[in-house]
Amino acid sequence: MAKKGIKYIFVVGGVMSGVGKGIASASIGKILQSRGVEVTALKIDPYVNVDAGTMNPTEHGEVFVLDDGTECDQDMGNYERFLDRDLTRTNYMTTGSVYLSVIQKERNLEYGGKQVEVVPRIPLEIIERINKAAEKAGAKVAITEVGGTVGEYENILFLEAIRMLKIKNPHDVVLVLVSHVPALGAGGNELKTKPTQHAVRSLNSVGLNPDIILARAHMPLDEKRKEKIEFMCSLEKGDVISAPNVGNIYEVPVNFENGGMGDRILKKLKMKPKQKDMKEWRDMVTHMNSATKPVRIGIVGKYFGTGEFVLEDSYISVIESIRHAGGKVGCKPEIVWLNSEQFEKGKESLKELNDFDGIIVPGGFGSRGIEGKISVIEYCRENKIPYFGLCYGMQLAVIEFARHMAGMKDANTTEINPKTSHPVVDIMPEQKKNLKDKNFGATMRLGAYVANLKKGTVAFGAYGVPEISERHRHRYEVNPEYIEKITEAGLVFSGVSPDGRLMEIAELPKEKHPFFLGTQFHPELKSRPLNPHPLFVAFMKACFARRK
Ligand code: GLN
Repeated sequence: MAKKGIKYIFVVGGVMSGVGKGIASASIGKILQSRGVEVTALKIDPYVNVDAGTMNPTEHGEVFVLDDGTECDQDMGNYERFLDRDLTRTNYMTTGSVYLSVIQKERNLEYGGKQVEVVPRIPLEIIERINKAAEKAGAKVAITEVGGTVGEYENILFLEAIRMLKIKNPHDVVLVLVSHVPALGAGGNELKTKPTQHAVRSLNSVGLNPDIILARAHMPLDEKRKEKIEFMCSLEKGDVISAPNVGNIYEVPVNFENGGMGDRILKKLKMKPKQKDMKEWRDMVTHMNSATKPVRIGIVGKYFGTGEFVLEDSYISVIESIRHAGGKVGCKPEIVWLNSEQFEKGKESLKELNDFDGIIVPGGFGSRGIEGKISVIEYCRENKIPYFGLCYGMQLAVIEFARHMAGMKDANTTEINPKTSHPVVDIMPEQKKNLKDKNFGATMRLGAYVANLKKGTVAFGAYGVPEISERHRHRYEVNPEYIEKITEAGLVFSGVSPDGRLMEIAELPKEKHPFFLGTQFHPELKSRPLNPHPLFVAFMKACFARRK
């Protein structure tokens, strides 16, 4: 069951969701990495969807995309950002995907005619996948985050997998419970441990006890509270680690290390601790936190202001990319959410944009608020406000340019107007058939694709290399039939697919605009705090320069 040479860390959540299991898992990984241990991180989502591709961002937050085209949970983005590693399909599983492969194996007679019982087959499949992910990544430790909260029906088979592994290999498995410790009392300073005790009882009922409890609270846990949890939950002294709220998520690994997390985990896994080396990470955090000069970035979207969900969750990678680049450039980004529909009320409404140092139109689907976004882009172009378009934001910049600079008044994307006389953004012929067949999954361009950059362009200046690879998630492309006309009018396609058919980056030359650039791909999926994305850095520089 356990693979020789691999150690397992599981992270589960107690009391309620949203306590930061993803950041906790990523931070544990970072700590181990800083001790010279190669790690990989997996996410388990307990829902039946096979992947996150079919989910609305208002339901689930951002859909993160890996190099291999896997559409997954935003926590995978946290792992990649903290660990600075590219993950693959094997690092992500859902209840649906686990059942799907067990059923496929059963259909292929891979169980030798035996009755296929939910237990142990499903837990064994889960363990096999973790082993595969560790093997593929060359990792000594696999950190697996189980979505949901203990006590729910949904994740019970995943907990059973942990139990099975742990009972056979007690020294190779560490279970971390990330629990919420609420505060009551008039001053909000009375920390309550009872919910955590209940969460542990819940774990006990499925045959598990945590090895470490991360106590999430708005303030640090005092010794008395720690001792209480340790005693009531049968933990060794020192195994309750305080995890107070932080202003900057990248401080979390540093805080965990200060609380002794690295030593405790390595001791439990019987691994020889190497010397800590978190210098580069600590320096990055200090640099980020010490930047004081504000830069005001407006993000224009359609979902904002509905109050239905946490907005930040839908654009988490964009936000993080801005922060990474801000740290590098030495400024403090202030992000303001702008509802695109507010810009559909005529010229007057656009004046507000003058208060911004830069504008981003991120990825999106559908027609709501589109004309507002196009007006914003036009205003940025004409008034030399730095503009960065991500996927849809690039397509709309091309449409705006075609309408106002290349004389194609009703230029549009066929996503919005299939009858437009100038479909400057359209479905490529090879994808049309899938769309007709309602095979929607197969109509997206997903994952990493290579592009060649034109020398002397803004994009080339930012990347400094002639060939790049970036991640995609979209259905439509700039229509090759219009390239000549749009280029003649002055827009430069500075990044193009190797076969020359797909336009990956559109920009205005430096002499014409301080920064006006859009990417068909999603650069935000590849920005890391230790390695900020070059285009975000170039954009933030332009924004900072406008401020000065
Ligand atoms: N709706 C556009 C397309 O499908 C853009 C998608 C996106 O921004 N991710 O091509």
